[in-house]
Amino acid sequence: VAPRNLGFSEVAIELTALARRAHARGWLLGTSGNLSATVSLEPLRLAITPTGVDKGQLAPEQILLMDASGLVIRGQGKPTAEAAIHVTIARRRRAGAIVHTHSTWANLLSDLHGRDGGIGIQGYEMLKGLKGVVTHQHEEWLPIVANSQEWPAEAIGLASLLDENPHIHGFLIERHGLYTWGENVEEAGRHMEVLEFLLEVRGRTLSLMSPG
Ligand SMILES: [Zn+2]
Repeated sequence: VAPRNLGFSEVAIELTALARRAHARGWLLGTSGNLSATVSLEPLRLAITPTGVDKGQLAPEQILLMDASGLVIRGQGKPTAEAAIHVTIARRRRAGAIVHTHSTWANLLSDLHGRDGGIGIQGYEMLKGLKGVVTHQHEEWLPIVANSQEWPAEAIGLASLLDENPHIHGFLIERHGLYTWGENVEEAGRHMEVLEFLLEVRGRTLSLMSPG
């Protein structure tokens, strides 16, 4: 993957637009969720949403620039407590952008399938919206990891998960939300919409099938 050439100001505008879009869909309610874009890989510099901000009201001026340790280099505010997850994904996947939502369906399905270690989704045309997927017969595996409040300590485990599952486009955190990524903000946004759609379809199908 070629490193992106957009500057901080440009990705801040893109991240803001994507955050507002996701908020409008109900995937980032109550200041939840966070988004980032890689401005530089070496040394790592991430443009990232600050913690505690309403994503429906987000402005580009609120986006922070931080280093791999979570230190803010530009902007005012604190990065999310989950910054270590963004750093891990940016490095292991050389991702250009990372999106983290707290959707109803991600919460419901990660709760239901947490013990299985993940959810396999197969047979839907929408799967072709994921990078490299060319047929609805593709089986997308979405691993589910346990929730934590100490993500820096979980970073090694997350790195292993990404290394052991080189073809995944995202993963779920149990009763928490979805992480997905892409080569740039546009692709990460597409993966977010595709995976959220697939989770909702799976969740609604299970609801319809449940007796009584
Ligand atoms: Zn979260």
